[in-house]
Amino acid sequence: MTPHTQAAAAASGPARSGDASAPHNIVELLIDAGDVSRDQLGYARRVQAKLEVPRPILEVLKDLKFISDEQIKAAVRKNPSPMCLGNLLVELGRIREDDLRVALTIQAEQGSGKRLGEILLERRLIDERSLIEVLSLQMGFPYVEPDFTEIDPRLFLKAPAKWYETHRFVPVRMDDGKPLIAFADPMDKAALNAAREVFGPAFTTAIARQGSIDRAIKRAQRTKQRERISPSDEGSIIAMVDGIIQAAVERKASDIHIEPLKEHIRVRFRQDGVLIHYDDFPSPLHGAVTNRLKVMCDVDITEKRRHQGGRFFVDQADSQLDLRASFYVTVHGEKIVLRLLNRQGLLIHIEEVGMSPRMLERFKEDALYLPSGVILITGPTGSGKTTTVYSCINHINDPQTSIITAEEPVEYVIDGISQCSINPRIQLTFEETLRHIVRQDPDVIVIGEIRDNFSAEVAVQAALTGHKVITTFHTEDSIGGLVRLLNMNIEAFLISSTVVSVMAQRLLRKVCSDCAVPYRPTPLDLQRLGYGPADVAQARFQKGQGCAQCQYTGYRGRVGIFELLILNEDIRNAIIDHKTSQEIRRISIDATGLTTLLEDGIVKAASGVTTIEELLRCLPRLQRPRPLPELQRLLEV
Ligand SMILES: [Zn+2]
Repeated sequence: MTPHTQAAAAASGPARSGDASAPHNIVELLIDAGDVSRDQLGYARRVQAKLEVPRPILEVLKDLKFISDEQIKAAVRKNPSPMCLGNLLVELGRIREDDLRVALTIQAEQGSGKRLGEILLERRLIDERSLIEVLSLQMGFPYVEPDFTEIDPRLFLKAPAKWYETHRFVPVRMDDGKPLIAFADPMDKAALNAAREVFGPAFTTAIARQGSIDRAIKRAQRTKQRERISPSDEGSIIAMVDGIIQAAVERKASDIHIEPLKEHIRVRFRQDGVLIHYDDFPSPLHGAVTNRLKVMCDVDITEKRRHQGGRFFVDQADSQLDLRASFYVTVHGEKIVLRLLNRQGLLIHIEEVGMSPRMLERFKEDALYLPSGVILITGPTGSGKTTTVYSCINHINDPQTSIITAEEPVEYVIDGISQCSINPRIQLTFEETLRHIVRQDPDVIVIGEIRDNFSAEVAVQAALTGHKVITTFHTEDSIGGLVRLLNMNIEAFLISSTVVSVMAQRLLRKVCSDCAVPYRPTPLDLQRLGYGPADVAQARFQKGQGCAQCQYTGYRGRVGIFELLILNEDIRNAIIDHKTSQEIRRISIDATGLTTLLEDGIVKAASGVTTIEELLRCLPRLQRPRPLPELQRLLEV
């Protein structure tokens, strides 16, 4: 059974009936309890009637500070007869009344006794977490997330892991002298009996998502195995390190963080740009694990008080994995970060990096296909600049063109291109390489990154002598890229006559396509973007509810967000006249049709590719975005 059906299975008796004639609704309960007065309710209904975006009355009462979440929970719990799940979900604003009606109709038509929660999940009308939270309220069991909690090992060891897996529960901790046990379905008699057999009659029942229980069991099991490993058992240590690297490869992680904490060692992976907890292991093994990695990258294993860096390769089935290691001395010991570079990594077509059709067309015609000039790609570390640069090179790579690179390091190897990896250890420096690069008679020069005056000058000089230069820069947005070049002691007229385009970019996490559900942003979300509800009326926002495919994050893969500045006459004049960045930004928007990073992000969120949370987390908000229909027109989506 999938986690979804398990969760829905927890929706027992009252949920199954779908009975709309439940004794009370929450508002009546609150009035009976004296938490809300009739006057307050009347006032809230008048406020509700005036709202542009409809909101449930409970939400309005909360906004007006007449009641709190705690009061709502207490009122539902005190109610002697359990309330109908469907009505609770509507009243709490978790589903719409229309959706409930649809689900109840399906339930009646199928007549197979399928539970309401199950139908809502199947139809993606609710996410599992929301459903479990409301079920916990309805049935009065606390809601826990065992996978985020330290599982008490003494409790866990009382039964074999298989037992927990079969009966879909896991003991979490001692609570008031009694074990607290999390069940996927707290009404499942067999599971309750199984728990009684092991823990006796007295325990506290809690409800949790099936996926959360599974992950907690797996993690506790691994910890149990680790405790038996001795630091001197070389074979087990090697297997453990290999296991971590293998898991990172399988999850397509870009980095592995192994960090000593006070109590234990924590292992996290960076996946889609975000750190995700993978595993813990006991502190006594840290020294052995560190030594193993130091041996692999051939650095001094006796040196434990200084930072060190190294590198090693791991053979994969069809490629070679290149790992860069950094050992950083902390108060709890050495923290290790491994960066995974896949040298035969997937090279993506420029059509697939995520530029809107109109922007891609302009980028090709007005930048990439010009015979000479500097093309700048800017953004912070991890914003996907390198991928974009490689997709550009790959796009213009043909037998008539000589392309040469100076990179630190070469991340993908592309056939037909002369790529050089900078290596300061053997005096193969950036400066030295750039001095030689123009003598190689190239058509296109790729400079990994503009990092100082010297590299900026080389780029500009090469463009002046008729070369096409593609390079990257560390700046917030496209205008920032121009301004920073201007601050590098290069004549304004040289910049204005060589730079042809500046592309700023970010990578945002994509909504998982396996568990996406439509959702409506809150007025506060919209306000933070600078919008009112009317500005995004036709948007189709989506959110991942979390599934096995996305490791319950709701996100899978990433999408590029772009801001393309093509330098035209107006911008060139503005540069020569030393206009401020605000003035250049205004001219870019008015005269070149520039859409900002935030605007490109909004268009992508409005089509359900990413979420508003991701926009707010990653994109600069320098000015109010234009209304969605206008942006869709500008980007032709
Ligand atoms: Zn998913």
